[in-house]
Order: sequence, then structure tokens, then C-alpha cells
Amino acid sequence: MNRDKGICKGLCKEHKIRKPRDGSSRYLSGQVRCQICGVFMSRETCHDREDRPVTEDTVDLYCSCCNCMVRSRPRNKPGTKPNKTAQEEYDQLKELRKKY
Ligand SMILES: [Zn+2]
Ligand SMILES: [Zn+2]
Repeated sequence: MNRDKGICKGLCKEHKIRKPRDGSSRYLSGQVRCQICGVFMSRETCHDREDRPVTEDTVDLYCSCCNCMVRSRPRNKPGTKPNKTAQEEYDQLKELRKKY
């Protein structure tokens, strides 16, 4: 198997998928982003660390095009609320201080 790591071979263009129509997050729709290739693709087109096809449990996904690790989820863990803004955090801190 060709192991050129970090080089986009153009294979990803075939796997490239569009943003979900309903506007939901790409990551939630099972899409992953390869930063080397700069495209979103579906999990199924990637492989795992051992070159095996990915399953639902696969955490480490590798781009089948450039063989680099791709991100399969946003920075926030699924289920957690989006980060608060600085202002919100400041307000909350103020509230907490009042209590004591
Ligand atoms: Zn590529
Ligand atoms: Zn890639």
C-alpha cells in the first residue's frame, strides 16, 4: 500500500461530500474533515490506524487519500453545550461572587 503521508493525491475529490441540506453540523452527520485535503468526507471512506475499514467505534480515522488523521468530531464533545462567551462567563462569575 502506498504510504505517502500528508500528500493529497486527489483521491479525496471522489469522496468529497456536500454539506447536509438541513444545515445540521457536518460532524454530527458522520462527516469528517481532512485538513490536508481540505474536504469533508464520510467516515466510510476513511480507514483506521491499522488500515482497516472504519466502524462505528473507530475513533482514529485516517484519510484514504493522504493517510493523515482526520477529525471526526468538533472540539466540543457531542452532547455538551457550546462554549460560553467571555461575557457570559464574566456574568456568571459575578453572580457567584454575590452569593458569598
Ligand atoms: Zn486528498
Ligand atoms: Zn486527506
